Amino acid sequence: MDAQQFREFGKAAIDMIADYVENIRDIDVLPSVEPGYLLDSLPEDAPEQPEDWKDILKDFNQAVVPGITHWHSPRFHAFYPTGTSYASIVGNLLSDGLSVIGFSWLASPACTELEVVTMNWLGKLLGIPEEFLHCSSGPGGGVIQGSASEATLVGLLAAKEKTVRKLMKIDPSLDEDEIKPKLVAYTSDQCNSSVEKAGLLGSMKMRLLKADADGRLRGETLKNAFEEDKAQGLIPCYVIANVGTTGTCAFDPLYELGPVCNEADVWLHVDAAYAGAAFMCPEYRHLMKGIEYSDSIDVNAHKWMPVSFDCSAMWVKDGYDLVKAFDVQRIYLDDVKTETKIPDYRHWQIPLGRRFRALKLWTVMRIYGAEGLRKHIRDQISLAQYFAKLVRADERFLVEPEQSMGLVCFRLKGGDKITKQLLENLTEKKKVFMVAGTYRERYMIRFVVCSRLTKKEDIDFSWKHIKDEADILCSDKIHTKAQIPAIDQIIVRDICEKSK
Ligand SMILES: *Cc1c(COP(=O)(O)O)cnc(C)c1O
Repeated sequence: MDAQQFREFGKAAIDMIADYVENIRDIDVLPSVEPGYLLDSLPEDAPEQPEDWKDILKDFNQAVVPGITHWHSPRFHAFYPTGTSYASIVGNLLSDGLSVIGFSWLASPACTELEVVTMNWLGKLLGIPEEFLHCSSGPGGGVIQGSASEATLVGLLAAKEKTVRKLMKIDPSLDEDEIKPKLVAYTSDQCNSSVEKAGLLGSMKMRLLKADADGRLRGETLKNAFEEDKAQGLIPCYVIANVGTTGTCAFDPLYELGPVCNEADVWLHVDAAYAGAAFMCPEYRHLMKGIEYSDSIDVNAHKWMPVSFDCSAMWVKDGYDLVKAFDVQRIYLDDVKTETKIPDYRHWQIPLGRRFRALKLWTVMRIYGAEGLRKHIRDQISLAQYFAKLVRADERFLVEPEQSMGLVCFRLKGGDKITKQLLENLTEKKKVFMVAGTYRERYMIRFVVCSRLTKKEDIDFSWKHIKDEADILCSDKIHTKAQIPAIDQIIVRDICEKSK
């Protein structure tokens, strides 16, 4: 392919993306394909002869797009959002255009320095304490990881190394291999699955402590766990606080966990993958009270900010903690020594290679401005509040717990079984997509405002589908008595009748 063809191919692809985004409401959020549909329709071998780009775009439309779950459809309310925007797409394109690997300063000075600049910008925007930023006088700084999962693992590995070093300094006769199996990590039973996985990958026992009735890990619980373990000869090493849990968007109180960790000299990592973006708005910063006690903080710019995957913003109080854990010297990696405080990012992450991810963060922050980004967060929260209001106005439903950020958890008063049935029926119809969660042992449906395109009318659309499905379900249940146990029938009838 020559440059002229590239220009045509690229421009056609951009037009296609814009059309896709602008018309995304016209297609079902969930695809209507069966497993194996694509495997069956594509050739078994790569083409021997070069093909025309027009044929590729045609197949993209005819074979790939039908197999897509449309994460940016305003009817997508599952999981948590994944960010995107035209600004970010262009940023990614520019990054691909350069295609550099920025593992050291010399490997592309702009790649390292733009990351330093944008991580300072974003840190300030979120109100992250200054000591975590490169622009402070200390050793703190930010780095873009691929995912929140990686950030949790990087924190764990650094904490492990730091604890081993500390203990061996106190008692040089200790054996590293004897210390490591005794190290313990802690988080709550509300943690994201990736947190538990970090324990597996980093070979550290991970205790999932019981959260309180509101889904928050309390300082007292953590303190007791430390004491129990110490009494058994184990060594508390790493704590992951969940700031915006995946299930219900609950906030662990950092002002309680922080002092407990600092007192015991245990690394505190803040997993604010989703909710952290809200700290752009000063009215939500009370939810990160105590963040100054932490050692590392992670916020996925690729989740609730309009930045495409992958862009996970991680800040550490002391960059040397990472360098000491991950520095492996090789002659071919020798770099120029700079006088200024510029990080050697290959020591701040797991892989050696790294993409120029700062470009998309830079394009997004400039195209939106801080004001535009704050507006995005505030709009999404008010849409969630609007949805919660609609649900509450229907007395068959219950919103529980209270709406938090862009997430509304709700269920039918009729119980777990009928709520589950409602979600299954909705998923089958493919018009709106939500997933289930649990709250206080009850089955509930999680509704998240995900797409940046979402407007009030989209919320009305989604709610209408949910409500209509509930109507059908209620009338069905009354007519098919034989299928449901007597007690459920009474509840169902009761609830359905109340709504008339
Ligand atoms: C989404 C999420 C994660 C995982 O994020 P990745 O970037 O996909 O690794 C971790 N923690 C929380 C609280 C999340 O919401």
